[in-house]
Amino acid sequence: MTTMASDIEIAQQTALKPITEIAAQMGLTEDDLELYGKYKAKISFAAVKRMQQHENGKLVLVTAVNPTPAGEGKSMTTVGLAQAFNLLGKKAVAAMREPSLGPVFGIKGGAAGGGHSQILPMEDINLHFTGDMHAVTAANNLLAAAIDNHVHQGNELRIDVRRVIWKRVLDMNDRALRHTVVGMGGKTCGFPREDRFMITVASEIMAVLCLADDLTDLKRRMANITVAYDLDGNLVTAGRLGVAGAMAILMKDAIKPNLVQTTENTPALVHGGPFANIAHGCNSVIATKLAMKTGDIAITEAGFGADLGAEKFMDITCRFAGIKPDAVVIVATVRALKMHGGVKKTDLQAENTDAVKKGFANLAKHIENMRKFDVPVVVGINRFHTDTAAEIACLTALCRSYGVEAGVNDCWAEGGEGGREVAEIVLRLMEGPKTPYKPLYDAEASIPEKMKKIVTEIYGGKDVIFETKAARQVKELEAFGLDKMPVCVAKTQYSLSDNAELLGAPEGFVVTVKDVRVCTGAGFIVCETGNIMTMPGLPKVPAANRMDIDENGNITGLF
Ligand code: ADP
Repeated sequence: MTTMASDIEIAQQTALKPITEIAAQMGLTEDDLELYGKYKAKISFAAVKRMQQHENGKLVLVTAVNPTPAGEGKSMTTVGLAQAFNLLGKKAVAAMREPSLGPVFGIKGGAAGGGHSQILPMEDINLHFTGDMHAVTAANNLLAAAIDNHVHQGNELRIDVRRVIWKRVLDMNDRALRHTVVGMGGKTCGFPREDRFMITVASEIMAVLCLADDLTDLKRRMANITVAYDLDGNLVTAGRLGVAGAMAILMKDAIKPNLVQTTENTPALVHGGPFANIAHGCNSVIATKLAMKTGDIAITEAGFGADLGAEKFMDITCRFAGIKPDAVVIVATVRALKMHGGVKKTDLQAENTDAVKKGFANLAKHIENMRKFDVPVVVGINRFHTDTAAEIACLTALCRSYGVEAGVNDCWAEGGEGGREVAEIVLRLMEGPKTPYKPLYDAEASIPEKMKKIVTEIYGGKDVIFETKAARQVKELEAFGLDKMPVCVAKTQYSLSDNAELLGAPEGFVVTVKDVRVCTGAGFIVCETGNIMTMPGLPKVPAANRMDIDENGNITGLF
């Protein structure tokens, strides 16, 4: 059963079950839910707490090769495999990120899976959903307003207006806000200063939401957020501005996980959505742990390639949450490997097994990397209708000769049925004994040591250098004793290096760190590399230009 219907057409033709029925599959009753209409619900804290007494199911992490701009199908595979596990008699629960409006209206379009493996209602999930993204924006911007107001009202904390770290955010791709001036307009408008906006999903509030255990932990973390330096060079935290409680109020519903369903009525928790290139890239720990408590198998996804999302899942999320995946599925596509093998984006449709062979180096590096974390690895070959039989056979043979289990994934065209092959391999590999958690680096090591380990072992580079400003920031964090935390690298998703043009599995490159920031609320240090931007821009023809809505509210073009 292949189909060329668009994602939104398939979504609109799917019969949804009431969300109470989906919750019942997880052992949750109507009392455990806060309903947002018929097909969306938040899960109460009482239910999350009650479920903590249950045994943990297995955890599967879905990651990918370095992608093409369209994405290689991680979300789709996460949904499809959850459906496939169900067909194989296992109770599966997916835990996924909420899409950001930036990519929805930018290059990529909607991000709720695709084809016959989607989470629904996809229009809602892609747009305002249950308002969590707006809550993060509001909490972030309340803190920003509190900083400028504090300065305006006499600046008791002696905040150095030249060194305010905290930035305003907006969930939109808007390059005009990358560099701004705030406080213009005279005495009543405060003190003018240079400022920058980031996209909401890069906000530390989003990271805090995704790493917090509960509301108390969330409030504690928000109070710990570093917002500025004072005139003596000391750090000023959000707690000292007195707004951590109010920020937590804004987040009181956002911290409860959201429940929706897949095209085959499998439960899916959609909660939190940090990007993996400029943030840590994984949905909330609360949702992942709840999926493990309510399913035989929890399946979650980490953003972009395994060098970004999966590395951060292993080194940040798992370290804090005390969890470890039982298996990792690396999504690979013929088109991405052809691109890594040197084929131009405009020629990716033409058969080219030589390019698949050449581009396999990128997949091989990700397989090698995931094995460093001591987890069983499976390659899920996401088949596109443009892939030829020869290309799929070539990729399967390459995996076999590399000594990694691989299966073809047809979940986009066939739903769960198309994921049986990969799901069966995953189940088989998870039968073995679970190995202990093994992070890549010791958080106690220095920032340059941690970065060097990531660059040389995961990216395949030769070395890392810190530009003058970044080196000074490292020294400062060392002096404050704030350098003993995991590192969250901000880097292009297109290459294993910090240069988007270096495809395949480049070697001998040097990664340049331009900026080092401490996230004392989230508990990690961000190292910004290359030309990565925390506020993306729109392309010449944004996805928004293809979208419309009719007089009855029917949406078209949202993929
Ligand atoms: P990722 O999570 O890796 O960024 P997604 O799962 O969001 O990728 O998929 C990106 C886009 O590609 C979606 O619009 C999805 O419908 C589409 N897609 C994924 N797999 C296939 C496939 N096998 N055939 C056609 N389109 C696909």
